[in-house]
Parts: sequence; C-alpha cells; structure tokens
Amino acid sequence: MSKKILVTGGAGFIGSHLCKFLLEKGDEVICMDNFFTGSKKNIQPLMKYPNFDLLRHDIIQPIYLEVDQIYNLACPASPPHYQWDPIKTTLTSTVGIYNMLGIAKRCKARILQASTSEVYGDPKEHPQKETYRGNVNCLGPRSCYDEGKRCAETFMMDYKRENNVDIRIARIFNTYGPNMAKEDGRVVSNFIIQALNNYPITVYGDGSQTRSFQYITDLIKGLYSLMNKENFTGPVNLGNPDEFTILELAEKVIEKTNSSSKITYKPLPEDDPLQRKPDITLAKEKLDWQPKIKLEQGLKETIEYFKNGNSTMESVDS
Ligand code: NAD
Ligand code: UDP
Repeated sequence: MSKKILVTGGAGFIGSHLCKFLLEKGDEVICMDNFFTGSKKNIQPLMKYPNFDLLRHDIIQPIYLEVDQIYNLACPASPPHYQWDPIKTTLTSTVGIYNMLGIAKRCKARILQASTSEVYGDPKEHPQKETYRGNVNCLGPRSCYDEGKRCAETFMMDYKRENNVDIRIARIFNTYGPNMAKEDGRVVSNFIIQALNNYPITVYGDGSQTRSFQYITDLIKGLYSLMNKENFTGPVNLGNPDEFTILELAEKVIEKTNSSSKITYKPLPEDDPLQRKPDITLAKEKLDWQPKIKLEQGLKETIEYFKNGNSTMESVDS
C-alpha cells in the first residue's frame, strides 16, 4: 500500500532526489521547505506527479499533518550557508526536530533524521565507527551545525525511550551530485564550477585534509533501506569509504574537465576536520548496503550537470 511521506528539506540537493525516488515507488510525497538553500528548479520536474505536494513552511514553526513516515532533511548543510545565520541553524536542528517528532508521536509515524559525520567533529579515531563519541568543539564556528545535529540525535533517542517513537538515525558522510546549488560552497561543486570556468581552484589549507565522497544515488538507496528496515534504529554511517585528500580531488576535477585552472591556496577554516572516512561495517551487516559509484563516475555525472545546467535526475536509478 502506498504511504504518505513527509520530506523536510525536500527542495534541497538530497531532498529533491529522495522525493523523486519515493514518487517513483508510488508513494505520496509532501515536500516541505523554506527555500533557504533549496530551489524550485530542483523540484520543478516533480510537479508532474499527481502524488506530489509542495508546502512552503519552516520546520521551526509547529505544523499539523497526517503522515506515515518523515524524512527530516531540513537544515543548511554547507559550511558558508549554515554559518550565515548560526542561531537559526541550531534552531532548525533542535526546535525543528522537536516539531517533527511531535508529528511522529501523534501520528505514530516512523521518522528518519539526516544526521551527519560532523557529530564526530575533528575525529581522533580513524575510520569513524558509530561507537566513536567524537571530538567536537562546542564553541567554534561549526558548532551551530555539529552540536545542533548532536542534540537532534538526543531528541530522537529520548522520544524513543519516553514515547516509543519509531526512529531511524542516518549519519551521512560527504555526498555530492546533480542538484547541488551553484552557490552551495561545498568542495565538489566549488571545484567543478571553478574548473569549468578556468578559474583558480581554491584549496583551503595545504589540501592534505581528507574526505570520503559518496555519490547521491548510493545515499538515497541507503536512506530508503534504513527507513524500511524493521527493528533497527541506528545510528548508522552512510558514506563511501574511499578516502581522498582535497588536493587529489582538485587534481581529478582539473583532469576530468580538461581545465586550464591552476590551484590556489587559501587559509584552512577554523575547526576544519583533518580526516574523515566512514566505517560502514554496520550498514553492510544491518542494511545489506554499500556504495557502488566510484568517485570518477560520480564526478563525470556531476560535471555534466554543471556543464548543461539541466537536472540529470533521470540518472537516479530507482
Ligand atoms: P541543502 O542545503 O541542499 O538542503 C537543505 C534543504 O533544507 C534546503 O532545501 C533548505 O531550503 C531546507 N531548509 C533549511 N532550513 C530549513 C527550515 N528551517 N525549514 C524548512 N526547510 C529548511 O543540503 P543537503 O546536502 O541536501 O542536506 C540535506 C540534509 O542532509 C541536511 O540535514 C544535512 O545536514 C544532511 N547531510 C548532508 C550531507 C551532504 O554531504 N550533502 C552530509 C551530512 C548530512
Ligand atoms: N574546501 C576547499 N575548497 C573549497 C571548499 C572546501 O579546499 O572551495 C575544503 C574544506 O576546507 C574541507 C573540505 O574541502 O576541508 C570539504 O569541505 P566541504 O565544505 O565540502 O564540507 P565539510 O566536510 O568540511 O563539511
């Protein structure tokens, strides 16, 4: 039977892919977004589905809806965006999840929180397992995001313990792909746009810091598996364990775009994590999930998207 599913942040990068995936499964989807970083362009192709609804709403405000499942994705995810109004960012993750958990409790809906590898901060354990408690600075410029997401996980666990709400927690690692905003500010989109315009590629620090990049279609399948898995709440890491330095990423993007861009070095932002790589043993065991798309292939798709300016959402294999 088809379900009524609320996707908050549904007009954003991940949200728009998830809405499409669920619509194609035949579910009814309510996309809720305040359009802070999301865009109508991302969801315009979804308007043709009779089972799609769009609601302009800020999750910080209470709302009454009847749904079967909630994917809570609403929150700016790129450092320049979440640091632009840090108080609002913290409120989105805390008051926002409180409001969504209220709906889940009243409707007996299952709720999945889009948490993040940022709950591990600048990790001293490598790769990061779900049991690692992290190394987060609660006072720095990233803390509005990191601590907000940590607090959201606490809300989730307490609603489960106190009210028996059916929760799922996904700790998402760096994800990229079509539908990222041109002005998003995260590393993959920045480098591709700079390379396509033959502008200098801005590497922060000496570029030796690492990240592990996951392509969007892999993540969507992981989120869906987690939501629909019985008797497993997580938290579970969803990420691609192939680890690269930022300098390696810059070189790959230059090569793949045949760009004449040169690398330019900028200061490393405060509290920028030096390394990040998921241990995905738990996701493999519990969800029978692992990413399939290699960085080369995902970069090719994403470069194509930024070249043509068109949504390549058809490439999301459902
Ligand atoms: P995004 O910025 O493209 O999407 C976020 C969406 O949430 C946007 O459409 C934005 O307008 C909306 N939004 C923000 N605040 C809101 C509010 N108060 N009320 C309603 N809507 C609001 O980012 P994304 O990469 O698609 O990230 C989606 C979620 O996944 C976020 O919660 C993010 O923290 C999490 N996540 C993403 C990554 C990644 O690498 N992309 C990694 C870890 C976690
Ligand atoms: N970064 C960079 N140049 C950019 C944007 C980001 O060198 O134009 C670096 C950033 O300092 C970090 C890494 O790339 O070390 C990933 O940054 P991003 O903002 O994508 O996500 P994060 O994992 O830091 O949240």
